[in-house]
Amino acid sequence: MMIYLDNAATTKPFDGVLRKMSELYEERFFNPSALYTPAYAVAKEIESARESICRFLGSGGTVYFTSCATESNTWVFSCGIKNKKGNIVISAGEHASVYENAHALIAKGYDVRIVNLSADGTVNQSDLMRKTDQNTTLVSVLHCNNETGAVNDIAALARSVKKVAPHALFHSDGVQALCKIPVRCADAGIDLYSVSAHKIGGVKGVGALWVRNGIRLAPMLLGGGQEKGERSGTENTAGIIGFAEAIRLFSQTDANAVADMRHAVRRTLLATDNVLINESENNSPYILSASISGIRSEILQRKLAERGIFIGLGSACSSRLKKNRILSAMGRSMSYIEGSIRISFGAQNSPIEIPAVCTALQEEIAALRT
Ligand code: PLP
Repeated sequence: MMIYLDNAATTKPFDGVLRKMSELYEERFFNPSALYTPAYAVAKEIESARESICRFLGSGGTVYFTSCATESNTWVFSCGIKNKKGNIVISAGEHASVYENAHALIAKGYDVRIVNLSADGTVNQSDLMRKTDQNTTLVSVLHCNNETGAVNDIAALARSVKKVAPHALFHSDGVQALCKIPVRCADAGIDLYSVSAHKIGGVKGVGALWVRNGIRLAPMLLGGGQEKGERSGTENTAGIIGFAEAIRLFSQTDANAVADMRHAVRRTLLATDNVLINESENNSPYILSASISGIRSEILQRKLAERGIFIGLGSACSSRLKKNRILSAMGRSMSYIEGSIRISFGAQNSPIEIPAVCTALQEEIAALRT
């Protein structure tokens, strides 16, 4: 039996999502721009998916569908910045799809400021305020960190930023927060919010950018004028309609049961010598990051995989890179960073899986340490 605990990397699509999508692929594969009635019905379903995702993120904005959150983040950085005047502020905890886009701007001569993390993995608010000023044009702070699950108080950060930089755009990468940490974007002071379907039981290849009413970014892709001219390209009809269904289904998850599973694994790890949990006080119940001194995490990952248990190492995207940017920014030493794992839970995990995971962790860590 497989136990999948790498849900922050991607999730198994819900059966209900696949059923909806397969009906669209098999029977209603029409281009939603076509004028015959069944195609128009698909276009209407896309609009109702858009409305339900907008409702979920709070009133006061709309969503534009993209191919992934990397595209949504890239859109913000490539089209949300008009010129080199002013400065851009991001946190050191950003996902690579923000971090690398910000670095591409540095290479082009933009003034990009990087805010330090606190030891608990959240954004250091005093450093954010030191680096933001009245000339700041864009601030990007992720809602929930993908490696540690540290949750930033995004409303408080947006409020402080807007006090000194009222015209700055406030962007937040909400990929790991969607359906897990409640947010009403407009009320929280967010202008732009990136999300992705495959982290919550939808499929890969669908993302969205929530944009506050009154804000207009330059278009991401030019062409046939889909997505109100902001992002041309024939819509991923099944993926988009499946995304709305995934949000509906994921919202039925019992978050307390997820927190209990995380708690049980956390307790086991803390009962082991020289293990640090990388977490904030108000951490996502879906992510457990641990640094285990004296082992190499990729070997632990392989040993667990041989027992049918799949976990992550930091983030999937950075697992090929030696240095862990996030844990380094939190001040973790190399001996702990080398032994860092990420166990991430999803809507489809069950408490009956947890005892086997705890036993396997205890046995494999002990074996690797001898
Ligand atoms: N932002 C965060 C916080 C993520 O965890 C990820 C995926 O790992 C992304 C962005 C990129 O999402 P996508 O795979 O949809 O491009």
